[in-house]
Amino acid sequence: MSLGTPWPAGAVRHEDGEVSFAGVRASALAAEHGTPAYVLDEADLRARARRYREAFEEAFAAIGTGVDVYYAGKAFLSVAVARWVTAEGLRVDTATGGELAVALRAGVPGASIGLHGNNKSDDEIRAALDAGVGRIIVDSLVEIERVARLAGAAGVVAPVMVRVTTGVHAGGHEYISTAHEDQKFGLSLAGEDSPALQALRAVTSHPELRLLGIHSHIGSQILDPAGFAAAADKVLGLRASFAAESGTLVDEVDLGGGFGIAYLPGEVELDPAVVARVQAEAVAAACERLGTAVPRVSIEPGRAVVGPTTATLYTVGTVKPVRLEDGRVRTYVSVDGGMSDNLRPALYGAAYHAELASRRSDAEPVLARVVGKHCESGDIVVHEVQLPGDVRAGDLLAVAATGAYGRSMASNYNLVPRPPVVAVSDGASRVLVRRESVEDLLALDLG
Ligand SMILES: *Cc1c(COP(=O)(O)O)cnc(C)c1O
Repeated sequence: MSLGTPWPAGAVRHEDGEVSFAGVRASALAAEHGTPAYVLDEADLRARARRYREAFEEAFAAIGTGVDVYYAGKAFLSVAVARWVTAEGLRVDTATGGELAVALRAGVPGASIGLHGNNKSDDEIRAALDAGVGRIIVDSLVEIERVARLAGAAGVVAPVMVRVTTGVHAGGHEYISTAHEDQKFGLSLAGEDSPALQALRAVTSHPELRLLGIHSHIGSQILDPAGFAAAADKVLGLRASFAAESGTLVDEVDLGGGFGIAYLPGEVELDPAVVARVQAEAVAAACERLGTAVPRVSIEPGRAVVGPTTATLYTVGTVKPVRLEDGRVRTYVSVDGGMSDNLRPALYGAAYHAELASRRSDAEPVLARVVGKHCESGDIVVHEVQLPGDVRAGDLLAVAATGAYGRSMASNYNLVPRPPVVAVSDGASRVLVRRESVEDLLALDLG
């Protein structure tokens, strides 16, 4: 029986109670690759990449323009993932020299890569220029000068977009709109002579820079498409204002990522077809009102492409009942990983779902908290979940929807080696990123 949301598309629970991923049983994955391990469903990832591209292409074709979908590599990037998403017609966004290096090793053409970051180093900018990236998203007035200087030194013209902050913030169900931004990213649209307008002017003043367009990213894990429409409207307003003063109507607008997914059973992810239509309609309406031509649009999904494709497989160790003040008992189920492989619960209080993956249990469910092995009481993997009352050492536990910001935010806290990323497809598994070893850690310590 298919496990459904929030599990990877190929996750099935068999008659005997064991779970398999794309035809590979949890016990076989644990035996071959050890635990903890991130198990990534290749077909699911490719289908999600494709679904985003097709939904947005269709919606924007309806308003007479094209769209480029950039996979936000920070969610999780490896050589294989970069190849899969490019094979599905996506481009790749990077935010550091490390992400850029992985995309290049995967053979992603420079022209299909974007470089982000609010504090890019000269080396990162040089590496991007060397690779001939399709766009550098500039984030401050000083950075515009730096990119111009480095492009001049390299004898190239750098294609740039200006990242703006629209005052629209989203994340979760609602969005809020404020005039002034109190955050490190982008250039504000607020005021008569806004920092964003100044940046657009600065870019066009440099022959070493080519102004492609305007970029906006409003948040993450967004479930209400209205925030995207509000931001699109502001970005297109800026585009028209700049055209009015300079005569330059920029060709492109990027509306960022942040498309929300389901983490728990019963949650509903943002439908790419719906958000694509909302964005396209907002762009068309704003351009009509402003009397400007419709730009080419790009978007940057990260979480929505990779998040639901992956589950983390852990082995249960210590199980400890703890009596709460109200008399209830909470069963603390310790697993062989924790905040080093999934920081999001500790960082944002993020909710996850876990199930027993290695067997059937008919035991009464108990109120459980899945915790890690780190020296930190906030080392929680799943705050609250019902698990069978006989959950015990040696059981395999799977945690759903860990593909985005799991391995990519992993650390070596307590000098725990980071788990592998194992791809599953058609009944076979293969390691994309190998498990770190204690030798790897010792090799970094020069004594
Ligand atoms: C983080 C980020 C994304 C991707 O966000 P998701 O929530 O993973 O879709 C896209 N663009 C920019 C600029 C980002 O910072």
